[in-house]
Amino acid sequence: MNTAPSFAPTRTAALNRLAAFLPAAGRRYADTRNEDGGPGADGAYGNVSQLSPWLHAGVLGEAEVIEAVLGQHSPNASEKFVAEVFWRIYFKGYLEQRPAIWSDYCAGRDAALAAVDRNAGIRTAYAEATEGRTGIEAFDVWARELVAAGYLHNHARMWFASIWIFTLKLDWRLGADFFLRHLMDGDAASNTLSWRWVAGLHTKGKHYMARPDNIARYTTGRPGGALAADGIADHAEPLEEAHEYARQKLDLPAPVTAAELAQPFALLLHDEAAHHAPLALPAAPALVIGAARPAARSPGDVGVLARDFTQDAVAGGMAEAAAAYGCPAMDWRAGEPLAPLLAAAGVDRIAIPYLPAGWTRDALWPDLAPMAAKGRAVTVLSDCNRATWPHAKAGFFGVAKAIVGVLRECGITGAR
Ligand SMILES: Cc1cc2nc3c(=O)[nH]c(=O)nc-3n(C[C@H](O)[C@H](O)[C@H](O)COP(=O)(O)OP(=O)(O)OC[C@H]3O[C@@H](n4cnc5c(N)ncnc54)[C@H](O)[C@@H]3O)c2cc1C
Repeated sequence: MNTAPSFAPTRTAALNRLAAFLPAAGRRYADTRNEDGGPGADGAYGNVSQLSPWLHAGVLGEAEVIEAVLGQHSPNASEKFVAEVFWRIYFKGYLEQRPAIWSDYCAGRDAALAAVDRNAGIRTAYAEATEGRTGIEAFDVWARELVAAGYLHNHARMWFASIWIFTLKLDWRLGADFFLRHLMDGDAASNTLSWRWVAGLHTKGKHYMARPDNIARYTTGRPGGALAADGIADHAEPLEEAHEYARQKLDLPAPVTAAELAQPFALLLHDEAAHHAPLALPAAPALVIGAARPAARSPGDVGVLARDFTQDAVAGGMAEAAAAYGCPAMDWRAGEPLAPLLAAAGVDRIAIPYLPAGWTRDALWPDLAPMAAKGRAVTVLSDCNRATWPHAKAGFFGVAKAIVGVLRECGITGAR
């Protein structure tokens, strides 16, 4: 396992991280979250939770994180942190309603990667950017930090993406792909839509320009002091695209009932649902199937930290689910048919934690769709997503307005 001990891909490590961060999730978070102080000796950034790898892998659920935070802080004091968790849910819901953004991203990325192969100038610029050799100190530090740590602070991600697009003038999809290959929390929705937001494609015409004074101000706490970003573009037009992404109506599954799971069934664990606990199934499976597909993040090589976090999270989740339910667990490897695994265990139904738009769905759904068509699949979606996604129609504002109601609807009170 290559991940640093502080990022052990287990539920125990996730719960420990949550408990350790809780005291800081109130006003301290709101006041300091923009500071990129860099990783400390233990690999942790003092002011943010770094819960994102576990949240992405479904080892922790958004609802339990918010519940724990509201158990220690007033709604007022924790408003900022809770809103950030809702940004994650918002991006998921937004992409669900515009899945063509993901498929177009994949097509654009493949074309951009082909251009890297074809064109020596682009190839050199791309290599300099991804290897941290551009000569822009801040950018080069983050490029190397991303690869070495599998994580970047949110503000660093914004500055990095802005310099990538507007100073280095590289294709934004190459940058988004570079992030997905290396971020342990790499997420099809948060990543693609955040890159689009920086570029001015998410909120049309509003782009994000990184500024050297802002970078210096919020990086003073780094071990080596403030980072320099001399010479970066101070003006650029936002990117534009001809295409308007029409919103698709959501068709979300209702909460799963025990009756639907009355016959023996298999529980599928995947890249975005690696642990059974947040799923809160109303019945015990007869089989656990693990289907980690981190290589599907990109046609290129996926970084060892991102790959191992997912693979180990699913492997650990399989072992813990098998122990919790007293049933066998099996690996469903990429390219293998699923039916023989189910037949060998005498089950013909499968519970599938929701497959959101992204590589996990792309990799798994072709094999699962025939089962779903025969009524042999049950989809599990969290209450929090079900209640929030219909509000993720346009900007985040729609979700922000709905947070109090969603928390009430989902019974998240923070009451101890
Ligand atoms: C260009 C770019 C790419 C990004 N790519 C990803 C990605 O692939 N995966 C990913 O999970 N996040 C992504 N983000 C969002 C954000 O940077 C990370 O979620 C956050 O830095 C994770 O660190 P944390 O857990 O310490 O966050 P905290 O500040 O502690 O926040 C708690 C949780 O809230 C959620 N969250 C916080 N900020 C955001 C945000 N701006 N957007 C969405 N959710 C948020 C995360 O789940 C996070 O774990 C990206 C942002 C940018 C600007």
